[in-house]
Amino acid sequence: MDLSVLPHASALPRQAAHQDGVDESSQAPDAMGSTDRRRLEEAYALTGLAWWEWDVRTGRLSWSEGMRSLAGLEHLEREPTIHDWAPLLEPADVAATTVLEHQALTAGTPYRHVFRIRTPAGELRYLESWTGPLRDAAGDIVGLRGATLDVSDRESAQRAHQTSEAHFQVVFDHAPHGMAMVWLQGERAGDLIRANDAFARLLGWERADELVGTSLASWTPSAERPFSRSRFQAMAEGRSRGSAYSRQYLRRDGSVVHAWVTTAVIDDGAGVPEFVVAHCIDDTGRRQHLRELERLARTDALTGLANRAVVDSDLAVPPTVGPGAVTGLLMTDLDRFKLINDSQGHLVGDALLVQVAQRLRGAVAPRHTVARLGGDEFVVVLRAGEDGAPVDATSVAETVVAALREPFDLPSGDRVVLTTSVGVALVGDGADMQDLLKHADLALYEAKDVGRNRVVRFDAHLRARNEARVRSEVLLRTALREGLLRVELQPMVALCTGEVAGAEALVRLHGPDGSPVHTGDLITVAEETGLVVALDLWVVGEVARLLALDERRVREGHSPLMPLLVGVNVSGRTIEAGDFASRMGAVLADAGVPPRRFAVELTETSLLHDSGLVEATVEELVAMGVVVGLDDFGTGYSSLAYLPRFPLGFLKIDMSFVQRLGTSRRSDAVVAAVVDLAHAHDMTVVAEGVETTEQADALRSMGCELAQGWLFGRPAPVDLA
Ligand code: C2E
Ligand code: MG
Ligand code: MG
Repeated sequence: MDLSVLPHASALPRQAAHQDGVDESSQAPDAMGSTDRRRLEEAYALTGLAWWEWDVRTGRLSWSEGMRSLAGLEHLEREPTIHDWAPLLEPADVAATTVLEHQALTAGTPYRHVFRIRTPAGELRYLESWTGPLRDAAGDIVGLRGATLDVSDRESAQRAHQTSEAHFQVVFDHAPHGMAMVWLQGERAGDLIRANDAFARLLGWERADELVGTSLASWTPSAERPFSRSRFQAMAEGRSRGSAYSRQYLRRDGSVVHAWVTTAVIDDGAGVPEFVVAHCIDDTGRRQHLRELERLARTDALTGLANRAVVDSDLAVPPTVGPGAVTGLLMTDLDRFKLINDSQGHLVGDALLVQVAQRLRGAVAPRHTVARLGGDEFVVVLRAGEDGAPVDATSVAETVVAALREPFDLPSGDRVVLTTSVGVALVGDGADMQDLLKHADLALYEAKDVGRNRVVRFDAHLRARNEARVRSEVLLRTALREGLLRVELQPMVALCTGEVAGAEALVRLHGPDGSPVHTGDLITVAEETGLVVALDLWVVGEVARLLALDERRVREGHSPLMPLLVGVNVSGRTIEAGDFASRMGAVLADAGVPPRRFAVELTETSLLHDSGLVEATVEELVAMGVVVGLDDFGTGYSSLAYLPRFPLGFLKIDMSFVQRLGTSRRSDAVVAAVVDLAHAHDMTVVAEGVETTEQADALRSMGCELAQGWLFGRPAPVDLA
């Protein structure tokens, strides 16, 4: 048979179909009776199948009702012909259909076939046909007959599935990270079903197919196996639907690679875990990054030494003995480093610290931790050697001091020589690990206190002093809270007339047993703890209260008991805390006392503080009407060079100078020179600690205006009752 008679062939690009040569008069195929046809229709309707016959000789189609609606030709008012049907076929399916039709027509081969049509309304349908030859009474093939079903729903679901399968495959195979699928059940449990090339490369292979079929265990290093097994078991038993974790893989060459793995379990459809899909990222870079972060977190950025965190972790273990055990700690700082830093700038200071760090590291054995805590404060954590014996801490400390004694070259080309103080604390000294830092710090403090450039070891004496300090702190806090502090006044006398010109307020505290607390110690503790700010303001307030009371008494006709001017001592720490002048102003305003009745005594060290704050505070106080003076002159830097920066009204010569008067001509000359210099700066001179008439006479002859000391009066409480 000529292929061109097939109507679908008309859709082929070859040539238009024509029906020349078809004998219209040839025998009709078996005709179906109308009853038969109705029954058949009903049976077919039940199955959703539509039936049809096509006589190729006439082009006639004989269709069941169902076939019309399948084709979307319900509204066709006449019997359809092949020319109604043929254009509906999707062009892409024409060729395959034509070949099958041809085979059925020529060889009588039946076939089953899925194809697509587009209905006149434009809807795409998937149809499945079972087709066989239509024969005439003589048994000759005259056309085709068949049954057709609309399988659009089934087909589109299947296609969607195929699409998602294809997507999955693309994602899986081409993922930049390793992907692997492993069986969870049965004999093949643990075997690799599928992997991508990235996974193969992670494990040191070239292609994924080299790995498929191998088992999970074969690429799991032994250390990792127990974890791997328990994760696997949890997934296989449905206890885990997947997780994310870091693990190791054994590579082809035997090396180990770290990976970050995310797994997901896939069920068999009946809820039984069937296989697991793992997504694996090479974790080496991330781990390196983490290690680097960890290193940075433990490193002092400036010097590259360990930082405080390392010292804390070294000490965060209970004391042990034996090799490597922490046996003690050295704490060191550079004497007068601050001076270099302030005078030469931070860059020079930093360069110096870097050199100090290098020398320290070089001076002690590698097993000891050398750390910078901050500023110029360094720590060495001492560890026992191989033999477990503790090192001789003092000799290590001496080595450190010696190493730092060599001159340092500054970037400017200058050379500086520094001295170092070292505090030593040992584990055996009754210190627990946490105490080591504190004890070494106290020992260092002591080393500086007794004159710097030395090594001091924490001992029973320091411990007792420290405990006393702790007690004073508790006492001071309680006193501030409960108003237990008192003020005593010591008169200041005019040397020419012997008249009281003023007084100095000195703070007093008594312990619970009534014994006085040494004021010097109290102030040290107050400064160390920062409580001095509150203390100084309390004294200001208390003096203001006394002055106000006295003024009231005077108004009531009594003679005054308070001197015109009262000096209060103000610590450098109090000034540094900021806002002192306005806080003092507020306290005075509250009490209704004028500022001109106050003198403020500052020490040289607080004036030397390298901040504009001190200057501003002094200026503010003076502007308020307060007289500001310099206390304890001669104990600090004893330099008058900075004096012009401050509008100071008086200078107090320290009692150590006063008490040496008359012992040598030299000491007398020093005091006389100080008096002259102070006068040259328009300051009144006050001598402290005058105990004898000889001292008073000498001072008077030098031109010193005021004096204070036991000769004239001891500090005493004021009774205004
Ligand atoms: P300062 O300001 O130099 O006070 C003078 C100290 O010398 C007082 O000691 C006083 O009692 C003592 N003194 C006075 N005359 C004589 C004398 O003739 N011979 C001897 N040997 N000593 C004499 P105090 O009261 O123990 O005070 C010690 C230091 O404590 C004071 O030295 C002052 O710097 C500080 N201080 C006292 N009260 C306060 C306060 O309220 N705030 C602050 N920040 N410091 C205070
Ligand atoms: Mg004073
Ligand atoms: Mg003084």
